Amino acid sequence: MAVYNPKSLKAEEFINDAEIRETLAYAEENKHNVELIDQILRKARPYKTELGTKCDGLTHREASVLLACDIPEKVEEIYRIAEEIKLAFYGNRIVMFAPLYLSNYCVNGCVYCPYHLKNKHIPRKKLTQDEVRAEVIALQDMGHKRLAIEAGEDPVNNPIDYILDCINTIYSVHHKNGDIRRVNVNIAATTVENYRKLKDAGIGTYILFQETYHKESYLKLHPTGPKHDYDYHTEAMDRAMEGGIDDVGLGVLFGLELYKYEFAGLIMHAEHLEAVHGVGPHTISVPRIKHADDIDPSAFDNSISDEIFAKITACIRLAVPYTGMIISTRESEEVRGKLLKLGISQVSGASRTSVGGYTEQERPHDTEQFDVSDQRTLDEVVRWLMDCGHIPSFCTACYREGRTGDRFMSLCKNGQILNCCHPNALMTLTEFLVDYASEETRTVGFALIERELEKIPNEKVRAIARQNIEDIKSSNRRDFRF
Ligand code: SAM
Repeated sequence: MAVYNPKSLKAEEFINDAEIRETLAYAEENKHNVELIDQILRKARPYKTELGTKCDGLTHREASVLLACDIPEKVEEIYRIAEEIKLAFYGNRIVMFAPLYLSNYCVNGCVYCPYHLKNKHIPRKKLTQDEVRAEVIALQDMGHKRLAIEAGEDPVNNPIDYILDCINTIYSVHHKNGDIRRVNVNIAATTVENYRKLKDAGIGTYILFQETYHKESYLKLHPTGPKHDYDYHTEAMDRAMEGGIDDVGLGVLFGLELYKYEFAGLIMHAEHLEAVHGVGPHTISVPRIKHADDIDPSAFDNSISDEIFAKITACIRLAVPYTGMIISTRESEEVRGKLLKLGISQVSGASRTSVGGYTEQERPHDTEQFDVSDQRTLDEVVRWLMDCGHIPSFCTACYREGRTGDRFMSLCKNGQILNCCHPNALMTLTEFLVDYASEETRTVGFALIERELEKIPNEKVRAIARQNIEDIKSSNRRDFRF
């Protein structure tokens, strides 16, 4: 039997079934152990040092105890600490992005995904480079600067060269003042050589959802195609890092398996990356299964309530305080609003999950990957975020300034975010307001920027940011960054 070892490169040793089961039993035994819970909560809290605020995070065992705990006051305390951590390391900034679907050709048999090979009633479509250009112009015209590209797995229709061509095309389009400055990539597990090619193409984060950490279920949920190989899929992030990609994004598709098992697996995966590569995941996404063509979410009986979903999000925030957290438009405005307080740092806006969807007048459904709950425009999402006290940020500075992997983490850990990310957020928000926003959003935004500029501690940085903001308003100069 495989023995648990976070430093191992073998999937069954770093995501170890026996260790997860013991963790769940330990969590169940201790879920009302107030003394232990208080001790874990104390450990999770941010604390001040000479270099700024710090946080120690939690182990998968500690975090699993909190997730199992159902004492209302303790759950409230988890939520309070999650918000405190979010504010300490990410401030009130929320990074904006949109997915771009390149192709829905897929040779896999994932039973929860409408792109599965046997689905014959979904039209198959793959964007040409001209179509990619048109989609990018439509996204730039909304104000987006950061994309996550998505594609099914199909070595014939979507080989790595096709993905690389698309990335080049995306970066080459500059429509009016538009610019896509960071392309994150969500494609199937691949080889070290291909990851190196993606790195050389200048990608931001490589995102791959584990879907489920439960191997037996994984094999059933992915009955055919290359994705059936659980070990190859689970070890993908190690290959990506070997290929030079510093920023990787994890995720579980909640609803497929029991959430406590998934949660422990997810935190163990983060611990493994830290143990082997010295840097944890750049982001964690929390998608929930949705209705889609040929897919009925009720066929998966592990769906979770909004309450549990909130608790999972908050417990991830406590366990891995420096990792960005992403919520997509799979979720409604109401759920997104709640989770933003519990640690989410990135949201998508105005997403279309169909291939070629951004150039269509009406939201098309025929090639959609899943139903989108939040269907507001980007302008509406931006204004809503500001009304809720957040700063929508279109910043992409970090990886372009070489602040990836542990260099980004040390920025976070050394409390320099207010002198760096905060002005960057305000400058990129100004770009959005000047170039793309409605009159009302612009008014709300400019007032917010005025207030938020005062929070920049370094006087020199504050003066430069103010000057750059004036330049953006009065000229076509763009893309200032610290
Ligand atoms: N084909 C790649 C892969 O297998 O990883 C790319 C990712 S796919 C386009 C993006 C993600 O959508 C999947 O990893 C999966 O978690 C999610 N997804 C698939 N079907 C879904 C559904 N019915 N509801 C919500 N999310 C879904």
